[in-house]
Amino acid sequence: MTGIRLDSVSKVYAGGHLAVDELSLEVADGEFMVLLGPSGCGKTTVLRMIAGLEEVTDGQVWFGRTEATPMTPKDRGVAMVFQNGALYPNRTARENIIFPLRMAGEDPVEASAKAAGLAQILGIDGALDRLPWTLSGGQRQRVAIGRAIIRQPQVFLMDEPLSNLDATMRTELRQEIGSMTRDMKVTTVYVTHDQVEALTLADRIAIMRDGKIEDVGTPAQVYDDPATAFTAGFLGTPRINLIGATVQVTARHRVTLAFGTQSIALPPTDRRSMILSHHDGEQVVVGARSDAFALTTDTDATNQLTGTLRALEFHGHQWIAFVDSGVELLSPDLIGLSKRKRSRANSEGRPTSHSAGSRAHRTAGRVSAFGAKTRSLIRKATPAPPELITSPTHRRSDLVLEIDNTGGLSAGDRIRLALDVSRIHIFDPHGHRVDRVKR
Ligand code: ATP
Repeated sequence: MTGIRLDSVSKVYAGGHLAVDELSLEVADGEFMVLLGPSGCGKTTVLRMIAGLEEVTDGQVWFGRTEATPMTPKDRGVAMVFQNGALYPNRTARENIIFPLRMAGEDPVEASAKAAGLAQILGIDGALDRLPWTLSGGQRQRVAIGRAIIRQPQVFLMDEPLSNLDATMRTELRQEIGSMTRDMKVTTVYVTHDQVEALTLADRIAIMRDGKIEDVGTPAQVYDDPATAFTAGFLGTPRINLIGATVQVTARHRVTLAFGTQSIALPPTDRRSMILSHHDGEQVVVGARSDAFALTTDTDATNQLTGTLRALEFHGHQWIAFVDSGVELLSPDLIGLSKRKRSRANSEGRPTSHSAGSRAHRTAGRVSAFGAKTRSLIRKATPAPPELITSPTHRRSDLVLEIDNTGGLSAGDRIRLALDVSRIHIFDPHGHRVDRVKR
């Protein structure tokens, strides 16, 4: 077994497309690392560079203390499972699983015993003598995993192995992959765009965007303490509310975050208060998950937002409320994008702001509080085209919050929301946290 280190690895495909951009990552010996990110962010390319199936344009791949960059895939001791683990159609499940051992000249009796042990772990012991076409998709994928892992690889790579399975099968096999890789203590890199798979399987998750890593940490770290607005937006259902705000500092160094006509105050003891007290008038992005809000009737309490309840959705164990509060909601996909990529995203019709028709209140080209000269994130909002309105009950201008019971509320009611400021994250205009994130 071995750890993996990617040292400033880049991949430029023919035609000049930069798919992976100076990416560095360490995976410890025996660790289960998940690469998570939207389609096209470079996850599969990273996996294929680790396997040696894709040449590295720049940088190095290390397996332990050995540089693997010049090694052939065969010499790397890597096993890989894809979305559709292709099997030999005229061989039984058992013969498929032991095939790599037969090729390596291993004793057939021992190979068969190993296959039987693995089949039990993978829950296919009753199907070992069947041909692939008689197996379900989940069973076939289990056979493919068994065949990959039976050689006891140094490194186990999986590229969306569950994406072609139905929901029940996905959950079952996900749990089996988790317990099998932990039992075998094999270093694993697993690619997915499914946050549930990432959060449930990973020792650590690397969140990727545009060929780079945005954040790396344990599932709890990246969910509860995200380093960037993109990470905060990628993890969590419903999606986090990312609200454009202006820092306002009073004469007594009290820090208020103004959302247009509404505002919240940070306690003076909050370390973000100290950081922001030097940045009066600057823009920030406030991230508040749907459960950071609570309905209140207390008119005197601090840190409240008011709004109109636009819709309620019943989700079984809770209700999701959509509230029109007039604040400016931002798309995590656009925060921190370069000017070029942002204008490309805009021309592709992605919204710059969730808020339809709210007023612009920023100036472009000012020096940011956090060092670099940046354009304002929050620009004059244009109404979202109808196709971007995700459902009749979810307009992108709505704050989204969870409530346990509706207490007789209905659409059109004015409501008060208490916001727990200890649970908000504050990001600079580039999408980075203004306070330091420990990993
Ligand atoms: P998905 O989740 O959709 O599989 P991904 O995050 O795994 O996406 P990659 O498949 O690594 O992303 O692709 C990263 C980028 O590189 C994409 O823009 C893709 O179009 C491009 N790309 C991938 N393979 C090639 C190739 N062989 N030639 C040129 N461009 C490629």
